[in-house]
Amino acid sequence: MVHNVTLIRGDGVGPELAAVTKDVLDATGVKFNWDIVDAGVDIVEKEGTPLPQKVLDSIKKNKVAIKAPITTPIGTGFRSVNVALRKKLDLFACLRPAKTYPGVRTKYQNIDLVVVRENTEDLYAGIEFEVGKPETKNIISAIEKESKKTILKDSAISIKPISRTNSERIIRFAFDYAVKEGRKKVTSVTKANIMKFTDGLFYEVGREVAKDYKGKVEYEERLIDNMCMQLVQKPEIYDVMVLPNLYGDILSDLCAGLAGGLGVAPGGNFGKDIAVFEAVHGSAPKYKGMNKVNPTALILSGVMMLHYLGEIEAAKKLEAAVTKVIKEGKSVTYDMKPQRDDPTAVGTKEMGQAIIKAMG
Ligand code: NAD
Repeated sequence: MVHNVTLIRGDGVGPELAAVTKDVLDATGVKFNWDIVDAGVDIVEKEGTPLPQKVLDSIKKNKVAIKAPITTPIGTGFRSVNVALRKKLDLFACLRPAKTYPGVRTKYQNIDLVVVRENTEDLYAGIEFEVGKPETKNIISAIEKESKKTILKDSAISIKPISRTNSERIIRFAFDYAVKEGRKKVTSVTKANIMKFTDGLFYEVGREVAKDYKGKVEYEERLIDNMCMQLVQKPEIYDVMVLPNLYGDILSDLCAGLAGGLGVAPGGNFGKDIAVFEAVHGSAPKYKGMNKVNPTALILSGVMMLHYLGEIEAAKKLEAAVTKVIKEGKSVTYDMKPQRDDPTAVGTKEMGQAIIKAMG
């Protein structure tokens, strides 16, 4: 079977990572019909936007995409291309596994955590009011009237919507993922002791949804501050975690750190029938064009994509090859060496070639 997949080259180190990841995925033997498209700051001059309609159309048509990182542009009217993409395609779930591979330099061994982050609402909804603007003053007056609380006039305001509908679909996604992957527990993480109505609703929905999975998957709740400490002290007791947008963003970086850093942290964004796979890290502009950064995170996002496409054998083969190369520690990029200036570090392309060779 040939899979139609959109490959978004991104900007910064994106195009280098996209090229290597494509070569590695092709080398698995799985047949892809790639639609290679560009998005990001490098095309703004030519296209007038960092996110051209043809990119969205291609993803909508193919339903599956793998995306290299994109810089958040300043002054184009886009808060973030990545956030815009998630919103426009209603990619409501962000899945970020954090797993230690032997050979990765990290203080922790045997990390196997999965962060499921809500992608569409919360403080990321982009509903903000700038300090001193007339509309901000109106909002402040209205809130003061309704809440009987005082807000300083020189405040900026951000709105945090948490809906029953979106909470339910992300929590169900987390439970369904746990069932499918044979995982034992879903932990819902918020700050509901303080945000009783928004985060409180997230917990309330969690308890309702958990009833449908009783006997199959355990459900528990943790406060985000406590969760950060517990993950550092005893990460082995956690499994799948489900969180509203902002907490999910922060906690997934924490988990990536436990598992060895951004260089090895993959991810996927899922909508009803669309999936876009991407590394957790950004476009690292200072390394652009240097053939230097680690391709592992995007390649492991490719492993997630192979699973999604039902190409399980190829996914296992590729993950085993990545594991072998990392464990050997020879053909790896600078960030995986004991010293960052190690002269034996290889480039992005060379690490990709070593992974292809390791697949046999
Ligand atoms: P970043 O992840 O791009 O880089 C931070 C640092 O992490 C780099 O300087 C580098 O030292 C290291 N690093 C990142 N990726 C690496 C890799 N593959 N191999 C080795 N080292 C790596 O974060 P940033 O500098 O905060 O963001 C740069 C731009 O990327 C910003 O515009 C940001 O908004 C954007 N961004 C995009 C995405 C995305 O496309 N999904 C995600 C995060 C940030």
